[in-house]
Amino acid sequence: MTDRPGDRATRRPGPRGASWLVRGLTFFGLVVVVLAVSSVLHAAPVEYHRPVNAAPKPEDIGGAYVIPAVQRSVSRSVWWGAVDVAVLSVALAASAWLALRRRSRRGLVFLTIGSLAYFGFYRDGCVCPIGAIQNVAVALVDHSYAVPLVVVIFFFLPLVAALLFGRVFCGGVCPLGAIADLVVIRPVEVPRRLDGVLGAIKYLYLIVAVWLAIRPAESRDFVICRFDPFVGFFRLAGPGHMLIIGGILLLVGMFIARPYCRYLCPYGAILAVLSRFSWRGVTITPDKELDCGLCVGSCPFGAIEKMRAVRSSCLSCGRCYRACPVGNPRSPDEASVEGAAKLALPVAMTEEGGAAI
Ligand code: SF4
Ligand code: SF4
Repeated sequence: MTDRPGDRATRRPGPRGASWLVRGLTFFGLVVVVLAVSSVLHAAPVEYHRPVNAAPKPEDIGGAYVIPAVQRSVSRSVWWGAVDVAVLSVALAASAWLALRRRSRRGLVFLTIGSLAYFGFYRDGCVCPIGAIQNVAVALVDHSYAVPLVVVIFFFLPLVAALLFGRVFCGGVCPLGAIADLVVIRPVEVPRRLDGVLGAIKYLYLIVAVWLAIRPAESRDFVICRFDPFVGFFRLAGPGHMLIIGGILLLVGMFIARPYCRYLCPYGAILAVLSRFSWRGVTITPDKELDCGLCVGSCPFGAIEKMRAVRSSCLSCGRCYRACPVGNPRSPDEASVEGAAKLALPVAMTEEGGAAI
């Protein structure tokens, strides 16, 4: 007996598909273990140096003036750093599994909410690979600049994941992406040419941000963190103008899905480049493509071209799976792929400009 295309078994990768995933996750797990162990072994307290000596001294000021104690954020212990790395690793693996193997939009939504809660609200949006771009850039050119190993790991781990599985960090882990994804309610299509022009901004921003970071210490500017649009929400505090900008981005994001991710995020620029070379990525119907076109309109990011997900712009959100009639219990005719194909054909033909039947 041959499997019908709509059977659940045909929707998922077979044993061969499972083996690449197991191999990928094993490799990914090894990378994670090595990075986590080295973070614990090599972590050392960073010595604090007062950057300026120009401040007036008590004897200059006179009276009973006493220099107040330097205020520094309380650094988390090495073990908490290891916990953060472990949570990031598990979240990345879960995102890859949900997006590529389980193909579950619902699972990704739950993961997104969990990531937003932990990395966003509990960890105050810090450590964050987006802001780490500038720290890593400075450390590469200025050897007196110390970057905690946890920050380095947070910077590289999502990039390793992107090379293996595409933008799974954006799909279910990044708290900035998560808060933006949850407000997408009525997305409109951005004309492709305009989308391309706006999409170039993030590459320019990346170049400018790195250039500002590697300047001499006196004139360095960590613009990515300074203009993080959502961190104020995570900390329930922040400069008024940034809260307004963040609010505007969320409002716009109800109709133009995830504008920060698509047009501004400098880390998204790096992920977009790396994911072009990813080992695996989102396939809308992995085994049997109907090419019915039902998935095209389901992607709020315009990441489906010629009925295939474009790896550089696919954010691994899983929305297109729900539109696919192959083995999808939510499809209009779950018992029959032929029935779904009949339903899809008029849509595809209408989009091609032909007559609907
Ligand atoms: S594009 Fe940037 S902000 Fe958006 S999810 Fe990816 S890393 Fe996060
Ligand atoms: S193609 Fe679009 S809808 Fe499908 S997973 Fe990628 S970003 Fe989401």
